[in-house]
Amino acid sequence: MLALATRAGVTHIDGQAVALAPAADGHRVRLQRGSVEEELSAPFLIDATGRAAWLVRKLGEPGVRAAELMAAVAWLRSPPSDHDQSTRVMSVPEGWWYSARLPQGLRVLAFHGLRHAVGEHVRTPASLLAEARRCGILPHASVDGELLATPQAHDAALRLQNRFAGHRWLAVGDAALALNPLASQGLLFALYSGLQGGRALLPAVVDGAVGPTWDSADYLARVRRVHQSNERALRGFAWAETRFPEAPFWRQHQRAVSPVL
Ligand SMILES: Cc1cc2nc3c(=O)[nH]c(=O)nc-3n(C[C@H](O)[C@H](O)[C@H](O)COP(=O)(O)OP(=O)(O)OC[C@H]3O[C@@H](n4cnc5c(N)ncnc54)[C@H](O)[C@@H]3O)c2cc1C
Repeated sequence: MLALATRAGVTHIDGQAVALAPAADGHRVRLQRGSVEEELSAPFLIDATGRAAWLVRKLGEPGVRAAELMAAVAWLRSPPSDHDQSTRVMSVPEGWWYSARLPQGLRVLAFHGLRHAVGEHVRTPASLLAEARRCGILPHASVDGELLATPQAHDAALRLQNRFAGHRWLAVGDAALALNPLASQGLLFALYSGLQGGRALLPAVVDGAVGPTWDSADYLARVRRVHQSNERALRGFAWAETRFPEAPFWRQHQRAVSPVL
């Protein structure tokens, strides 16, 4: 994708955005590139920094997470006997598990739950594997010593930013709307919102640059519709799990979304 963009005339500069200042005709961004700092001017900025939502946090008001959800994610070496073709999802009192076989003999294993349970799995990887083996999320029993790296903790909560577009800026992907992984739509939404954001900006392009004004209404409405449909799906999932009514994880997640009437 980067190669395609470069061939289409995009200039690619690798670096971390570390500071933002307003300018008469747009923004000034300070980029950290190794030990070097560089300042760039831009008439328009698009925030595609994922859950970090760097620009949104500088220019907008950060959104509210629907309900606490963290993920402990691990990568395993799958045994040759693992021919499982399914995406495996399983709910347990403390949250839910996900696993899928990947190319090159790998398998992803993730536990989603409240901060303390996820923290425990990240601090003691053996507990992650033991629990995975116990609950049956893996299609094979012998998982000892297969972890390729220490499990990582990630924020996985649904979050819609209060503002994700404005004067001379726009956010796409997770920076605008980070979806609950149960929907498995984060990558699709990143592409969709990038496409829709680009379409919304096209009429405002003058001499190769986005002008000072653009019509964000259609883009805002489309992103909000995705958010609403994600919430509907989550409501269905949360209230379909009736086995653990006393478990704090399920109580929190059911409280966060009213039941389907
Ligand atoms: C473990 C895990 C598993 C997932 N599995 C799935 C799945 O199976 N299916 C699915 O659809 N989605 C999945 N997702 C979600 C999916 O990865 C995201 O929704 C998607 O990557 C969002 O794309 P994005 O381009 O908006 O952000 P990202 O892919 O997060 O990219 C943001 C980029 O911005 C960079 N960045 C951040 N801050 C700055 C800064 N200040 N300056 C410069 N650069 C910065 C980051 O380094 C990163 O490269 C998963 C997420 C995780 C964490």
